[in-house]
Amino acid sequence: MNKKYVAEPYRIKMVEPIFETTREQRIELLKNAGYNPFSLRSEDVYVDLLTDSGTGAMSQEQWAHMMTADEAYAGSKSFYKLDGVVKHITGYKYFIPAHQGRGAEQIVLPQLVTKKGMYFISNIHFDTTRAHVELAGARAIDCVIEECFQIDLDHPFKGNFDLKKLDEIIIEKGKENIAGIIMTITNNSAGGQPVSFENMVEVQKISKKYGITLLIDGARYAENAFFIKEREKGFSDKSILDIARMTFDLADIFMMSAKKDGLVNMGGIIAIKDNEHLFKLCQTYIVPYEGFPTYGGLSGRDMEALAQGLMEALDMRFLTHRIDQIRYLGDMLKEAGVPIQYPIGGHAVFVDCGKIAPHIPYDQYPALSVTNALYIEAGVRGVEIGSLLLGRDPDTHVNLKSPIEFMRLTIPRRLYTYQHLDVVGKAMIEVFKHRDQLTGYEFSYESPMLRHFTSTFKPVKKG
Ligand SMILES: *Cc1c(COP(=O)(O)O)cnc(C)c1O
Repeated sequence: MNKKYVAEPYRIKMVEPIFETTREQRIELLKNAGYNPFSLRSEDVYVDLLTDSGTGAMSQEQWAHMMTADEAYAGSKSFYKLDGVVKHITGYKYFIPAHQGRGAEQIVLPQLVTKKGMYFISNIHFDTTRAHVELAGARAIDCVIEECFQIDLDHPFKGNFDLKKLDEIIIEKGKENIAGIIMTITNNSAGGQPVSFENMVEVQKISKKYGITLLIDGARYAENAFFIKEREKGFSDKSILDIARMTFDLADIFMMSAKKDGLVNMGGIIAIKDNEHLFKLCQTYIVPYEGFPTYGGLSGRDMEALAQGLMEALDMRFLTHRIDQIRYLGDMLKEAGVPIQYPIGGHAVFVDCGKIAPHIPYDQYPALSVTNALYIEAGVRGVEIGSLLLGRDPDTHVNLKSPIEFMRLTIPRRLYTYQHLDVVGKAMIEVFKHRDQLTGYEFSYESPMLRHFTSTFKPVKKG
């Protein structure tokens, strides 16, 4: 922020205490958690940067609207309020709520898989999206630009599709075998990296040329619009809502984990531009999986909070501060020589642990090693986004190797202050100084799907 005085654009009305532990306690707690930070109790974490999903703080307006919610099973007034807001932002004709992003995925994706041997192509599939693609009997192909994996390279839109490759994949697999193209904005798995409007226009042209459905996986569409406004020519005087609307105009379907830019603790969105047939199918399937189409797994309270949260997330003051917090932490690490994905993305700082611990092989999970060391150092919880998350090839069961072994330090919305981020930065720099001592991990139990959540590990003995 180019301002002389920088602070959070809000003050604190309600507080939640957090607790410190000793290093000895943390060593024991981590061991008991099977060296998987997902298995730690949140009470034992001092600053929790596991995810920005559903972990943000709600506003006084959101809490106030929750008191006015209509909890009717069918036709709730809170549903119609949310319906109005989603249609206002997207310009789409149809809306169905879902309990979270994966709730939307499990309803929408199978409808597009009409036969065996189909593919989805995304810049990078988010992990649950990939899982639902595979559960629907299709395969997921990632198609992001090469620059994405050159972490020091300054590129304004590292989340962009590789357009040439996209075209080639469609020709190679056959357009009739492509179930959909999924634009993930921002590109979560690559460092919260944005996709340019220009790139999305080109993706749309390709989808039109081959008659392929275009989906937006838009958990962080407002952050993506912020980057377009900041970095892309011709957008600086447009509002976030204008840019968001232009983005939605390009696609056919919008799936959203509202736990991100919806500023709520739980919620998801399915919006469909004009395909009535698809809408009716989704309406049918939502009932057994999520709930009646006017609540889709959400309470009236949740829908009230989301209707308000969606609008707050479009506010430039909020977005400017949010992105500034991420940059604050990222710049601190970069100045200390810690290798991070640069430019710093929208919701997290992504630390390149393959560079920090090149002595740990990919299948001993260098980013898990750094994440665990950071917890022991200061009670800070990050998350592995590397080969552990990527998992095994669904057909050959080979342990896949991620192009980058990231640890993600994810900043929840409106939750922590700059001082909390100082703790994180200082602790990470300490871990970096002692990087030669990091050791790898091997499975003591490997769960068969989305293995990073529930597997347990043991440290590999130095040989
Ligand atoms: C979080 C996320 C999802 C899944 O949403 P959940 O609410 O966690 O189920 C899907 N896609 C992207 C890009 C996400 O960031």
